[in-house]
Amino acid sequence: MQCRSADELQLLVDEAKKSSNNGKVADYIPALQKANKDTLSISLFYPDGNCFSAGDIKENLTLQSISKVITLAIALSDRGEEYVFNRVGQEPTGDPFNSIAKLETNKPSKPLNPMINAGALAVTHMIKGSSVNERFERILKLIQKLSGNESISYNKEVAQSEFKTADLNRSLCYFLKQHGVIDEDVEQLIDLYTRQCAIELNCLDLSRIGCVLAMDGKDPYTEKQLIPRSVARICKTFMVTCGMYNASGEFAIKVGIPAKSGVSGGILGAVPGRFGIGIYGPALDEKGNSIAGMKLLKLLSEKYSLSMF
Ligand code: GLN
Repeated sequence: MQCRSADELQLLVDEAKKSSNNGKVADYIPALQKANKDTLSISLFYPDGNCFSAGDIKENLTLQSISKVITLAIALSDRGEEYVFNRVGQEPTGDPFNSIAKLETNKPSKPLNPMINAGALAVTHMIKGSSVNERFERILKLIQKLSGNESISYNKEVAQSEFKTADLNRSLCYFLKQHGVIDEDVEQLIDLYTRQCAIELNCLDLSRIGCVLAMDGKDPYTEKQLIPRSVARICKTFMVTCGMYNASGEFAIKVGIPAKSGVSGGILGAVPGRFGIGIYGPALDEKGNSIAGMKLLKLLSEKYSLSMF
């Protein structure tokens, strides 16, 4: 069974919205505090071009950690699997996304996976280009292509707000530099990373990106292979094992969809071979996942039997 109307989706949104009361908007990046806690929106995008949306769909969100999936795809395409995984691991972590703990205890000292901040910073470091601007343009261009929306840009206020306050991420970078995982200027890397996190779009754009991933990297519209098939497979696998931070195990049991969340309250979902999902609900739980967004995905998965397990 497949969702056939926006009205069907709206019912699920109304039900899921009841749980956003308990959540809290991210405040460690000051500009994110402005988000409306009660917002909840969703888009589904199918390979035949059909799409359904419900909720406050005009609202924009910044990608935050969702961008880690895209930068991983670029780094894998630029450098190959062996290079990337010699420097970043492939295992989930039970720690919060911004934790430094395992960098010290994991030997050899490398981030456990590309979906936590330490791993994502190392991955962004690997993206080729002659300047920060050129590397950023490559990330932005891929997002524009995946979503079919050339007007997507980044939110300067959010980027600057994070740049000014990203001392924890700076310390992760210095640790990585000390251990030879990265060798670039830390301020330069933080500049690129905070811009990638501030790329701004809406749920529909996000659902189209999810649809391309669901279809193994091929744009169902243009039939162009935007991400190599093997790379799309790796990205989706990390979405399952690490995409919802240290809640990924429970999420796999309750929902069973490759997904990646961000502290803006966004969630990117890719139902393999079926469709893409974009969600925005800025009220977060204590692990940093959209509380109503997770509930919505659970309802959706149950109603339309979406679990891949
Ligand atoms: N920009 C955020 C950070 O590095 C992204 C983290 C997230 O979305 N979990 O802290």
